[in-house]
Amino acid sequence: MRLALCLIAVLAGACDGRGARLPEYELSGQSMGTTYSVKIVAPERGLDRAALGKLIAGRLDEIEQRLSTYIEDSELSRFNASNSTDWIDVSTEMCRLVQRAHEISVRTGGAFDITVGPLVNLWGFGPTGDALEPPPADAVAAARQVVGYEKVQADCSVPALRKDAPGVYLDLSAYAKGYAVDRVAELVEEHPLAGYLVEIGGELRIKGVNARREPWAVAIEKPDDGTRAVQSILAISDSGMATSGDYRNFYLFNGQRYSHTIDPRSGHPVNHAAAAVTVVEPSAAEADALATALLVLGPDEGMAFAAKESLAALFLVRTGTGIDELATERFAQLMKRNQP
Ligand code: FAD
Repeated sequence: MRLALCLIAVLAGACDGRGARLPEYELSGQSMGTTYSVKIVAPERGLDRAALGKLIAGRLDEIEQRLSTYIEDSELSRFNASNSTDWIDVSTEMCRLVQRAHEISVRTGGAFDITVGPLVNLWGFGPTGDALEPPPADAVAAARQVVGYEKVQADCSVPALRKDAPGVYLDLSAYAKGYAVDRVAELVEEHPLAGYLVEIGGELRIKGVNARREPWAVAIEKPDDGTRAVQSILAISDSGMATSGDYRNFYLFNGQRYSHTIDPRSGHPVNHAAAAVTVVEPSAAEADALATALLVLGPDEGMAFAAKESLAALFLVRTGTGIDELATERFAQLMKRNQP
């Protein structure tokens, strides 16, 4: 989910007694149907930025070619198109990602579930194009027959994957963007520097300080459909952060909002008062998946799960008159750090 990335401390510019601003460089481009930005602060003198930029773009292309459902001949699309229920050899990278996703599904009671692809596509949010109205109930019931995280197995000693039924179709969109952020952060971390901020379509990973030698300040968006307004500002370091929400990728039908986050247990888009969930975790991939899971669970079940798991999570909940912020204790501590 795209965050309004107001790098406040960076955009404010100029130095103010903390010492001269540190040099900062940005590498950016397009990937996974969105944009990416890599801000690097005070890298080593000899850093070859063009070479690093090429390395990052190449790694993102490789991840897309493996994990995209929007590229017909990607490794994931070829697995999804196969009708075989035998073991299918895959790359170690894809196998490990499916294995990790399975672990998160077990942990979240199936709220996060990468086999949800047929339902995502049926409701009009996948690569097969947009829908403008809900699908018929019998189509939802049919799609649910091939959804369930236990319907795909991974044996990464081979490495290979196996589906229980030909129609099983994996959708990694709620995990692979965060995963790509972590892989780019790894490439950047090979260079001595004072700090970096890696962002792909709103999922991000932060380390060290910004050009003003302060913790990076990122904005969490107001969950408003048409505008890009700031809900709150968070100064964080050495973390990943991801937001899932129902206010960017959705349609209205008969006054009801249908968004791209699907509850695998019902087969329907989530339908509760939580408009968005932000999670802060060391890994952007984990934050990405957990934000989706918490949005599926909703404000009550989700807050209880997040508290039990001591997650740093913020729920933005629609009330009749505005937005309520429900923060777990760990997230509240992060927000307290911002109080003047
Ligand atoms: P998130 O909340 O992070 O994820 C929501 C997405 O996860 C939904 O869109 C759905 O796909 C899936 N999902 C829904 N419910 C669940 C659930 N319960 N459990 C697990 N997953 C669920 N988009 C394009 O338009 N063009 C492209 O070319 C394109 N290429 C991509 C390539 C890759 C490798 C990936 C990973 C994604 C690509 N996308 C593309 C999709 C886009 O980048 C975003 O990933 C997508 O919109 C979801 O990101 P988000 O942060 O908005 O939502």
